[in-house]
Amino acid sequence: MAEDIKFGRRAFLGSAAMGAAGLGAAPALASAETGYSYEVQRSDAEWRAMLTDEEYGILREGQTEQPRTSLYWADNPDGTYHCKGCDLHVYSSEWKVVWKSKGWVFFRHSEGNATMTAIDRVIPPAYGGNGMANPNAQRALIETHCRRCGSHLGHTLMINLMVIHCINGKALNFRPVEA
Ligand SMILES: [Zn+2]
Repeated sequence: MAEDIKFGRRAFLGSAAMGAAGLGAAPALASAETGYSYEVQRSDAEWRAMLTDEEYGILREGQTEQPRTSLYWADNPDGTYHCKGCDLHVYSSEWKVVWKSKGWVFFRHSEGNATMTAIDRVIPPAYGGNGMANPNAQRALIETHCRRCGSHLGHTLMINLMVIHCINGKALNFRPVEA
């Protein structure tokens, strides 16, 4: 069900900045740091063989696609979205939000047991009512990745007190509902 979501200008600007912040960010494929062991593991050569250079940059290096360049940003046919790294069903059209002014792929929820999150990078602290930065208000850009193969899919943002997954369409494969 395609619908253009209504966000205030403040939220729009904030999320635009956060989207840009994802460009070139290092991936948080943090198995080495956290001890978490992904179910699907491949060598770097295997990843490169199965992905295009751009897909490799997104899934394995945490890069962000240019807006409006994937197959999935502009409409919402019924179906399911699968991780390009391991084919896990990670999102469904039921929870997709079309947000044409942005040009990425947005979902209100992921499937159960499909995605994990990590800290991508720390972003500047929020400003208090007095206009001063609050050093205690640590904020971070939250990355979203596949729980089965660890591939970076995008980011999880909070916009107007809604949690939104802002996902690279090129990290996904779509399967339409069969008639
Ligand atoms: Zn995966």
